[in-house]
Amino acid sequence: MNTLIKNALILDMTERDKSYRGDIKIENGKISDNPLFKADRELDATNMICMPSLINAHTHTSMGLMRNYKDTAPNLMAWLNEIFPIEAKLEPEDIYWASQIALSEMISTGTTAFNDMYFMMDQTCEAVYQAKMRANIGKTLFGSLDNIQERLKPFDEISEKYLSKANGLIKFNVAPHAIYTTPLETYLYARDMILDKGGDLHTHMSETQIEVDNSIKDFGDTPLMYLEKAHALDDIKVVLAHGVYLSDDEVKLCKDKNISVVHNPSSNCKLASGIAPISKFRKSGVNVALGTDGASSNNNLNMMEEMHLAAMLSCVSNLDPIANTPYDIIKMATINGAKALSIDDKVGTIEVGKDADIILIDTNKPHLTPLNDPFSAVVYSASGSDVDTVFCKGEMLMHNRKLLTIDVDLAMKQTKKRWEHLLTK
Ligand SMILES: [Zn+2]
Repeated sequence: MNTLIKNALILDMTERDKSYRGDIKIENGKISDNPLFKADRELDATNMICMPSLINAHTHTSMGLMRNYKDTAPNLMAWLNEIFPIEAKLEPEDIYWASQIALSEMISTGTTAFNDMYFMMDQTCEAVYQAKMRANIGKTLFGSLDNIQERLKPFDEISEKYLSKANGLIKFNVAPHAIYTTPLETYLYARDMILDKGGDLHTHMSETQIEVDNSIKDFGDTPLMYLEKAHALDDIKVVLAHGVYLSDDEVKLCKDKNISVVHNPSSNCKLASGIAPISKFRKSGVNVALGTDGASSNNNLNMMEEMHLAAMLSCVSNLDPIANTPYDIIKMATINGAKALSIDDKVGTIEVGKDADIILIDTNKPHLTPLNDPFSAVVYSASGSDVDTVFCKGEMLMHNRKLLTIDVDLAMKQTKKRWEHLLTK
């Protein structure tokens, strides 16, 4: 269905602080300038900000199941030790319904694409396919390579199925969890998988000071340098979640090797991990994207909230309110996220020929009146609940706050049931 968005305040994210009022034509899923364009429907966007939809560059979709569960642990490892026993009991149906909940939350707060790392990826793929969203699904590797052929067997079949079925909306990465759970041999195997089948490497990196200290103690080097010197990163594209404690040499390596770093401010605050030096990354020419991490360490998947917190932390940690301007922060959640997911040729900006992954934010609200600078309004005043309408590849996923591709009441009912069942095991 072709859509005409009329008279919107457009932040197309192609140039610093550029905004203008205009129309957007969505034709066959793409942004069009066809003079013969005929709309099947028209949306009056007079009160709307229109911008690229948000990209969650690091998450664990189904961890929403463990939302608000035993999350008063004193640090990352203590918390993971509460989570791992539950994860060992998960069944496919748990993942499917938890994915539906996560996707509902993401769409309703303006996110249409995400970079995922979790288990039973076929269930998340099916939920993404049904919701008509976009995702890079991680083939998650955890621990040593014992029985690897058996464990990896389903990956090829699932990826082939959804690569063709999802019309380009689903891609696959290889996602070794972290150097403190996954040995070097697995990282090297991950690299081989990528060279063989494609995709990027998505991993946790230098999230805590303890991780870095242990890496120096156990491997004689900082985490990223350790992998680099072992040639685990040669000739592949890499996305690092966190990077809170990357050394200066590692930051330079990220720039030189075009490695993206995903800032996860809520998770880093909540687990008391630290504040990633995103100004340093940006000034060094490193691509910085934004993510929520899993909903069990956040505890939501709301990228509007993530932008707000990223901006606030940037101000206070730099003692400089414009170290990263609202435009810079929105970039992290849009085009920089698209670069991290290797989909920047398709999405991340509003440009003719790109896929129509677009959100409309309703500004007819007391907390957005008067609007003044729309970039500041999005980052500092708006909430996820102000997102009114969401498109992914031209398909309307939400309109007037109503989700159109997910039965959210059913998803909530089933997820509660699955969680209660899990706790009885
Ligand atoms: Zn994570």
